[in-house]
Amino acid sequence: MDAKPYNKRKHLASAKLLLKNNDLSSLRHASLEMRYFLEAHVYERLLKDADQLPKSIIQKWEPNKAMKMLSMFDKLADMDLTLTISEHDGSSPIKIHYNNIKNSELTKIYNNLGSYLHLPQPSKAKDFSINKEKLLKIFETIKVLIRGNLIIIKTDYSTFECESCQQAILFTSWYIENNESILCQNDSCKVEHFIERYDGGCRFGSKIQCTCKCGAELEIFHSKLKIGEVIKCTSCLVKYRVDPNLTPIK
Ligand SMILES: [Zn+2]
Ligand SMILES: [Zn+2]
Repeated sequence: MDAKPYNKRKHLASAKLLLKNNDLSSLRHASLEMRYFLEAHVYERLLKDADQLPKSIIQKWEPNKAMKMLSMFDKLADMDLTLTISEHDGSSPIKIHYNNIKNSELTKIYNNLGSYLHLPQPSKAKDFSINKEKLLKIFETIKVLIRGNLIIIKTDYSTFECESCQQAILFTSWYIENNESILCQNDSCKVEHFIERYDGGCRFGSKIQCTCKCGAELEIFHSKLKIGEVIKCTSCLVKYRVDPNLTPIK
């Protein structure tokens, strides 16, 4: 899998041309091209890590999700990097820059551009216009992403199996060090797994420890627990209902 289907330059060039015009349709089209540009940037960045990332996972990510995931797992995805290459004695150093935009800003710009792709709300429809100055400013901000973007520091992706849907959940050691829990990335699951760190490793757990009277472990997930919910033991088929039982603290 390579990043070739994504052509950042093409989208940036189209946007530049369209921004020479002033009509609404050109400006709207320019917004779309700039969005494509940002999407291509994010996919390119992700696909560079493809030998470490399970392909089946990334291939299903929509741009918005890809953007979020990238910054969630990679502490460098958000930063400008400078690499210095010099001779053995440290002379004639060459500095190479990796230009990036903070992910929070990238997402803001992406959503901002997206708002121009819809019809305006009825209350704003009468005097709707796209602020060209704003688009030009966005163009200046994002065009830095085209330069010197080949420095990629590999991220140590790993996966573990979701306790609920059995799909692979992606994580990095950076994420583990900085978070208490992780959500299953399968959009129809999203079960939360808590991270338990110990010397030299970590464990993930999503279930509440609860044993049925038959001795089997019940499938109760922290993040899915609801009052009134009926839980069936998969072994003896006895049903339990979740009831609140408040105990005053002494
Ligand atoms: Zn899951
Ligand atoms: Zn049972």
